[in-house]
Amino acid sequence: MATTRVDEQSSLSVEKVRIDGVTKRFADVVAVDDVSFSIEEQEFLTLLGPSGAGKSTLLELIAGFIQPSEGEIYIDDEPISTKAPYERSIGMVFQGMALFPHMTVHENIAFPLKMRRFDSNIIDGRVEEMLDLVELPGYQDRKPNELSGGQRQRIAIARALAFEPELLLLDEPLSSLDKKLRDTMREELLRIHEETDVTTIHVTHNQEEALTMADRIAVVNEGHIEQLSTTQELYSEPQTPFIADFVGDSNMFNGTITGVNGDVAAVNLGTNEFTTECPTTDSVSVDSTVDVAIRYEDVHVSTSGLNVDNVYSGTVHQTIFRGDQVLYAVELDDGSDQIVRSTSAYNRDVQMIDRGDEVQIGWNRSDVMFFAR
Ligand code: ADP
Repeated sequence: MATTRVDEQSSLSVEKVRIDGVTKRFADVVAVDDVSFSIEEQEFLTLLGPSGAGKSTLLELIAGFIQPSEGEIYIDDEPISTKAPYERSIGMVFQGMALFPHMTVHENIAFPLKMRRFDSNIIDGRVEEMLDLVELPGYQDRKPNELSGGQRQRIAIARALAFEPELLLLDEPLSSLDKKLRDTMREELLRIHEETDVTTIHVTHNQEEALTMADRIAVVNEGHIEQLSTTQELYSEPQTPFIADFVGDSNMFNGTITGVNGDVAAVNLGTNEFTTECPTTDSVSVDSTVDVAIRYEDVHVSTSGLNVDNVYSGTVHQTIFRGDQVLYAVELDDGSDQIVRSTSAYNRDVQMIDRGDEVQIGWNRSDVMFFAR
């Protein structure tokens, strides 16, 4: 999806949902803290963040299960706070919302249509359409316990979309599935999104799921949105150390700028002489403290010399084979006890470096991400 999406700022984009200064308090816990952002029509937006960040609370506020302590939510420019959940045109697939076990697949999918008093001849046609959409035609008479986990999830999606909602909310919809099924269902969800074009807000704590599915990602941390951008931007231009650490795998250091020379700054990354070079910016001056992040994949390891800006000697402390990737944890030889991690692509022509081997490890200064304090 992310690759096919048109420019977010395009004048064609239409705002579907607006969260405007929303705060939600539970006694003295501020679960959502003055959050404002918009979701565009047909967009697939993912709320990504660690457990307890406030993602589900945001979704429940949009669904109408709970009310904001402050602020307002708009759909198509209309405030929705006064509307009950069933008055909002929102389909939902939430973790805890299982299929009704005593009902058939047909009855499950028909349920939201009956609640909305659709004609029975329309209902039968719509159920059939939905079963086609989720590629389970002919399954209408089964009971949920006669379905696999993946099939149950497809029926839950069919049930959520049956009344053609304006908005689809997905809360960790794939977390109960095994990895293989999760991958298949990810593709399925994207295909369904493409076919229906329904504006979708999806919650996950899984960065890979967010990166592979979303048009844009809003990273939620401690009740606020830390960054909202396209998937590629989020990965290549994280705006805070939290995001550099949470999205992708990064070596994280605290540093002090020790020198600036033209467009190169030197930064000390520890108590010893562990320094690296990074690009300068206006916010960097000698003695300023910075957070530094270097992605594992930007760190190179070799037993036969390295041609990068910052090179150190070290000893391989751990070699972890990950199938298509190898991860090396290398302890620097400067007495700092500093461990630096690196990942590189693996195929059968690659000779892995063993634990205990002496190596050079390093990175280019353009790959050093740093954040002024
Ligand atoms: P996430 O979905 O990101 O894991 P939640 O939105 O579930 O996070 O929770 C955010 C914070 O709000 C947490 O500290 C959680 O304990 C608290 N919280 C959520 N729901 C309630 C509730 N009904 N009562 C009290 N505290 C709650």
